[in-house]
Parts: sequence; C-alpha cells; structure tokens
Amino acid sequence: MITIDKFNFAGKKAFVRVDFNVPLDANFNITDDTRIRAALPTLKKILADGGSPIIASHLGRPKGVEDKYSLKHILGHVSELLGVDVQFANDCAGEEAAMKAAALQPGEALLLENLRYYAEEEGKPRGLADDASDDEKAAAKKAIKEKQKDFTKTLASYADVYVNDAFGTAHRAHASTALIADYFDAEHKMFGFLMQKEIDAVDKIMLEPARPFTAIIGGSKVSSKIDIIENLLSKVNNLIIGGGMAFTFEKAKGGKIGNSLCEDDKLELAKEIMAKAKANNVNIILSSDAKLGDKFSNDANTQFAEANAIPDGWSGFDIGPKGEAEFSEVIKNSKTILWNGPVGVFEFDNFAHGSEVVAKAIAEASKHGAFSLVGGGDSVACVNKFGLADQVSYVSTGGGALLEFIEGKVLPGIKAIRGF
Ligand code: AMP
Repeated sequence: MITIDKFNFAGKKAFVRVDFNVPLDANFNITDDTRIRAALPTLKKILADGGSPIIASHLGRPKGVEDKYSLKHILGHVSELLGVDVQFANDCAGEEAAMKAAALQPGEALLLENLRYYAEEEGKPRGLADDASDDEKAAAKKAIKEKQKDFTKTLASYADVYVNDAFGTAHRAHASTALIADYFDAEHKMFGFLMQKEIDAVDKIMLEPARPFTAIIGGSKVSSKIDIIENLLSKVNNLIIGGGMAFTFEKAKGGKIGNSLCEDDKLELAKEIMAKAKANNVNIILSSDAKLGDKFSNDANTQFAEANAIPDGWSGFDIGPKGEAEFSEVIKNSKTILWNGPVGVFEFDNFAHGSEVVAKAIAEASKHGAFSLVGGGDSVACVNKFGLADQVSYVSTGGGALLEFIEGKVLPGIKAIRGF
C-alpha cells in the first residue's frame, strides 16, 4: 500500500474525499472549521507537489439539490485556508464537473458540489412512498445500486489518483468513500494524512497496546456502548465504567441506586459483562461513591453517597472524591488509555469535576509516556472544555466512525484502500 508522504503528485489529478460537513449559521457562515483545517495538510501536500486536488465532500443531509446544503457557501473559506483560489463546479457528476476537472492545471484546485445531492452517493433510494411494498422497495434499491455504479465511475474518471481523508465517513460504504477505490490500482489509492493519523492511533491501541491498557467508558447508556465494551473485554487490563451507565452495573451487583439512570433490561447483560471480565482477567472499576443531585439541573441540591446506597429521590450525576482517586490511580499507572464518554453530566459545572479529574489524569499519564486516545463526541468536548486537548496523545475527529473502529468492525473506507 502506498502512503501519501511517499507519493509525488506532480502533474497528477487527485480525487480527494474530505469531510467538509461543517456547521453553518443562518447566514451560511462556518461556525466551526475544524474539519476543513484537518484536511489542509493533505490538500497542501498535493498542491505543493504540483498536483491538482479535486475536492469532494458531503454537507448535511440533502434530499436532492438544496441550496442551503451547497458547498459554494464554504468555497471562500476553503480558498482562504488553502491559499489558492479554489474553483467550483456546480455539480459533482455533470458536464461542468468533468470539464473543469479536465481543464485543471498543476497547482490548481477544484471543489465539487455536494456529493449527497445525488442519491447515488449513499446508494439508498429516495422518495419512496411510505406505503411502498417490499417488491417496490427491492426494485428501487436495485435501481439505485445500478445507477451508483455509473456515478462512481464518473467520479473516478476525473482523476489519476484517489485519496481518502474523510475519517468521519469511513464507516460508510458510499460511492466516494469506498466504492470509487476499485477504479484505482494499489499504487494510485491512499489515505490522506488525517485518515492515516486516525488509523495509526486506533491501530496503536487495538493491535499491540503497551500495558497496562485502561479504557474509560462513560456516557449515559449501556446500550449504546455495549459493542465497544464487548470488544474491549479481550483487549484491556482495566475497564473503568463511569457516567449514567455505571448505575446499571451498580444495580446488577445488588446496589441501591435511587433515581439514577438505569436500563433495567440491561441488568442481565451487565452481569454477563462482569462475569466475562472476570474470566478474562479484566478489572472492571466502578466508582465507589457518587455525587448526587435531587434534580437534573446545575442548580440541584447535592450530596455525596456510596454508589451502592443512593437514597430515593436522588440521582448520581458524577463520581465522588473516592471514585476520582480510584480512577486517577489506575489511569496514571497505565501505558495505553482510551477514553470515550464523560463520567458525569459534565455539561453542568456542578457535575463536571469527575470528568475533569479523569481528563487531568490522562494528561498526566501522557506526560509520562502513556499513549492516550480520546474520541467519540462528548469526551472530545470534555477535553476541550478543560483545555487539555493538546495534553493527550490523540484526539479523534471521528464520531461514529471511531466508535465502529473501536468496536472492532472493518470500516469500508479503510478496507477499500488497505484491504482490511
Ligand atoms: P453518550 O452520548 O452516551 O456518550 O453520553 C454522554 C452524555 O451522558 C452526556 O451528555 C452526559 O451529560 C451524560 N451523562 C454522563 N453521566 C451521567 C449521569 N450520571 N446521569 C445522566 N447522564 C449522564
């Protein structure tokens, strides 16, 4: 497999799939350009080599051509960040795109219109009546899959090389994220720098982690983290469970959890997980105490209690001081750390302390040589909130893609290039 740092793009046109799905305000101003900035190293390398990037992305979830989802809104900002006047094609698969791609000169860049204006990108039929029969649904699905082949071929025809730098959509088998790779040989398809960094970070913790390896899994629901936990049970030494989901485990152990969040239909599953952990020599660590609130609000009255003796009318919204010390001790002695999900309702300052302590312990361990990966929505917001993002080893940009990767799934966007 070829890597982007070794490839010389001089005179080459590169179809670059990026994730420019940025948030826009009502006046189409970009409110957070992190995703655009994240793709700059790849685009700049192609330009600096004397190549021509043909930049393709989706924006939002349009049902067809919808002006508010046009990538023209971000053209100016992309040009500014890239330092070249990026050209724009009003379509991604029409004549204009083909002509502008063909006319592109070395050092010039072209931004294509939103890929998801076409149902072919995702390969899912659109506009099916709610009461469509199974036969109609099957026929529509077959038709769109056929059209998807032509669409993919058209996209591939613009370029000599395919570069995928859209980690955020790597878990989707879409035309531009996976299928297109079939039109390029092994020497002409590669990951962009961002995607490569994401893959390297996950490979580092999942394939040959330095030990002890500790995962901190928090958030609200066991049900949304079950696949991750199951995969981690054969990989980690310590599994710290925090946040709302910890109370399902606490209750399964026979504890009294008051009004804390609990998924009663997951109690058996929690027991199974604990038994499997024991069999695998994985330490499951729950906080021995909790910070309670009498309502779901930053202004709630608060008190501390043992996590297995929470009075009725009170809910555990954060870990307590004992849990902070317990979690910190384990984290600081770890050589590999994965953090997904806050250990409390960190959005409320009154219940953010536990997550802050966890973030600081991870930063401390990283300072002493541990490799730490923080990822999946809220934990990224957490390290940002506490100003610690630059003190952990890697903060992932991928939400769903990262979670599926940690669940041990093969991601289509990755497999299309490296074969697994
Ligand atoms: P998730 O999206 O599953 O990672 O969950 C993140 C959310 O879990 C955050 O919005 C937190 O506020 C919430 N959360 C964390 N701890 C608790 C808790 N003890 N009780 C209720 N919600 C929690």
